[in-house]
Amino acid sequence: MSLSLIHSYQELPHILFSNIKPTPVKNPFIQIFNQKLANEIQLPFNQNWVHILSGNELPENCKPIAQAYSGHQFGHYNILGDGRAILLGEWRTPQNQLVDIQLKGAGPTPYSRRGDGRATLSAMLREYLISEALHGLDIPTSRSLAVVRTGEVVYREELHVGAILTRIASSHIRVGTFEYAVRKLSNEEYRKFLNYVIDRHYPTCKNSAIPALALLESVTEKQALLISQWMSVGFIHGVMNTDNMSIAGETIDYGPCAFMNTFHPATVFSSIDHQGRYAYANQPAIAQWNLAVLAGTLLPLIDSDQKIALEKAKAVIEKFPELYTSSWKRVMRNKLGWKKELATDEILMNELLAWMETEKADYTLTFLAIEDPEKIQQPYFQKDSWKIWLSAWEKRCEEEGSSAKEARKNMLLYNPKFIPRNHLVEEALEKASKQNDMSMFLELVYVLQNPFMTNEQHYSWMFPPEEGDTGYTTFCNT
Ligand code: AMP
Ligand code: MG
Repeated sequence: MSLSLIHSYQELPHILFSNIKPTPVKNPFIQIFNQKLANEIQLPFNQNWVHILSGNELPENCKPIAQAYSGHQFGHYNILGDGRAILLGEWRTPQNQLVDIQLKGAGPTPYSRRGDGRATLSAMLREYLISEALHGLDIPTSRSLAVVRTGEVVYREELHVGAILTRIASSHIRVGTFEYAVRKLSNEEYRKFLNYVIDRHYPTCKNSAIPALALLESVTEKQALLISQWMSVGFIHGVMNTDNMSIAGETIDYGPCAFMNTFHPATVFSSIDHQGRYAYANQPAIAQWNLAVLAGTLLPLIDSDQKIALEKAKAVIEKFPELYTSSWKRVMRNKLGWKKELATDEILMNELLAWMETEKADYTLTFLAIEDPEKIQQPYFQKDSWKIWLSAWEKRCEEEGSSAKEARKNMLLYNPKFIPRNHLVEEALEKASKQNDMSMFLELVYVLQNPFMTNEQHYSWMFPPEEGDTGYTTFCNT
């Protein structure tokens, strides 16, 4: 089958990747295919491409690779690499954007260590669902093109149905790729790698006096925006290791991620995050920590005098909290229906969060309760403390020359009615992977791709489970 894939990454030094073919699978079957995404990027894929999407056949002229990278995992440096993902190549979209086409779960690679190179159907459907949900929420993310069942079993303490996800991303270059490259490449090669990343993701940095510093600034800005968007919808990535942070500023590597229901800053879902390193409220600080690691790798390209390089890089990293806060305030202003910035906004926003924490209120519903008090009637919205905050909000709307009515209209565009509620995600995955019943999963994908839309048919999906979901745990590496 012909498909003109590009292999620009392979013009870089060979130590950055390994040539490796997907391992064929027994009996591939397309479980879900994202035709809308295929159309968007004009990829001539369709349901008949099962052999390509399973790795059983390669498109003509395709030279697949696994990419090498390192990473700080829970603060500790390790050499990693694509242990179960194989990059088929890059594709140029109609918007002249280069995107990676990658098969996740396509078999072992030289970086697999003790892993089997495979993935379970349930984990790949989970990534499909949550990445499409983030996209629906207008949050930068890798996309999911398809999930193919392999017809083989995967062993993870028990037997699971095996699957492969086709992932589309601006690239899979990570903070960890820089950590690897700076250690493995000569100065000249490392500069070539830098230029490649700049050309691909931040071309304007090329004209800067110090391109490496400009790149660091751009990535810092992108990450500040991304994390503020995560925080604004209650998304917890769960495993923000430096190898899971994309240079392009997209959400990547969906493992133990989940959305928070009851607001609490210390919320953690991942079964392996015992210290709460990647808890909800720690995400901005961890992003800054990761960016400091990136800065460290860029020092030799910033200035030949290490002291000067360090000072310049430090100045960029120290700007992160301010960039993050102003970005967060912007997204929160939108969520609260305000068009102008007023000095007291942050106080009112923090009072709202403090109220949610005290009342154990649902994060998403709280905004919907401001938007439509008639419709959202949890007991805690009957309390005086809520009425007091709400009247302060109304007063604030008037202070910018608007009204509560106007603000409520503005809010409709920014407050999702639907997030991937954990209990629904689990129920849909259970039915899809254990009973081969995709109906709920498909419905949930549709609803989450349109999260701002009123949808009376799925009214109950707006709400957390009545009994709450304390103790909900997610697992990575499945
Ligand atoms: P993560 O932090 O979950 O994104 O993955 C950490 C590392 O483990 C990456 O290098 C993955 O490629 C690798 N990995 C995860 N699962 C497997 C598997 N089943 N087989 C081989 N490598 C894996
Ligand atoms: Mg990863």
